[in-house]
Amino acid sequence: MSHLSFEQLLQQEKFSRDDLAKMLTADEENTLKLLARAEEVRLTNVSRNVYLRGLIEISNICSKDCYYCGIRKSNKNTYRYELSSDEILSAAEFAYKNRFGSIVLQGGEITSSRYTEWISTLLKEIKNLSNGELGITLSLGEQSKETYEEWFRLGAHRYLLRIESSDSCLYSSIHPHNNLHSYRNRLHSLGLLKEVGYQVGTGVMIGLPGQTVDQLAGDLLFIKSHDIDMVGMGPYIEHKDTPLYSRRDELAPIEERYLLGLKMVACLRILMSDINIAAVTALQAIKPEGREMAIKAGANVIMPNITPGIWRNVYKLYENKPTISQNDEENLAQLISRITAVGYNVQLDSWGDSLHFKGRK
Ligand code: SAM
Ligand code: SF4
Repeated sequence: MSHLSFEQLLQQEKFSRDDLAKMLTADEENTLKLLARAEEVRLTNVSRNVYLRGLIEISNICSKDCYYCGIRKSNKNTYRYELSSDEILSAAEFAYKNRFGSIVLQGGEITSSRYTEWISTLLKEIKNLSNGELGITLSLGEQSKETYEEWFRLGAHRYLLRIESSDSCLYSSIHPHNNLHSYRNRLHSLGLLKEVGYQVGTGVMIGLPGQTVDQLAGDLLFIKSHDIDMVGMGPYIEHKDTPLYSRRDELAPIEERYLLGLKMVACLRILMSDINIAAVTALQAIKPEGREMAIKAGANVIMPNITPGIWRNVYKLYENKPTISQNDEENLAQLISRITAVGYNVQLDSWGDSLHFKGRK
């Protein structure tokens, strides 16, 4: 048992699972200390800069059936779409012209050759339209090593694949029990991405039914021990058309999941000072200022949604996903001024690569 004060605990160089659990369960007074320490670590190591990735939700068609996700294959209550190549290219062009620096292509998991070739063609076209300047992150689930290699060769340089929970028992309680949803395969895919040469991103959901603070502390140590370059993690938010909705009585109130999300960001920043951490949309879904709060807690990446407006509400992973009331230029200007107002600096025209990745290479 450690006899350190909370302030001393925060100043350590190494953190045990117990230390992290203590930080995650901090009371109000200690939470302020935790957030302040995270901000200090962030300013020393990754500056006040915040990088943009324009998020394009290319399709909500998925071959998988994760118990928590609103676009899971078996949900018959959702309209399915796949954006046309033109829609995706004009969103990429919007990001380029508005100096986002990079984009993320995200979608359900499809492994057919038609699909993987379509992505390859898009990568070439996006590189062409931006003179090779637009950075490209993919978040398209588990694919073969050959597919990961092909997409990397064509210019995708970052890949996000959340482990969802690093605890294999918890993982199996939120997924069907078959090969398509195996923890081992997910972990294997993360290894492949690193082997191929991507900047590798992962993350977890926070506040899942049955999840403990000790497991979340384990998630943070998992991210550190796997030497991850970038992280997107946020609160689990229930969706009524999913199997996990039946366990909603086990959930902590949404405000608590939000606060735990901010504490996870702060702990991770202290644990891994030079990685990229995203201020995720799920935080904004709970509180309008959620992403700015995450920036102050140590996040340095934000992913404004630039999916064509009519489709944005159909890509519905969870309830209360933020909708839009104005056009994307206005949204962007407002986002920049909100980030500036909390003392941070949106870095336009920049890939904003993970410093950790540069060090790892
Ligand atoms: N299909 C790809 C995959 O699963 O890796 C990428 C898209 S998937 C929709 C992106 C992330 O959404 C998942 O990794 C998961 O963590 C998150 N997500 C899905 N349902 C969620 C929910 N109900 N609450 C919060 N996050 C959710
Ligand atoms: Fe498909 Fe990803 Fe949703 Fe799982 S989380 S059902 S893989 S879109």
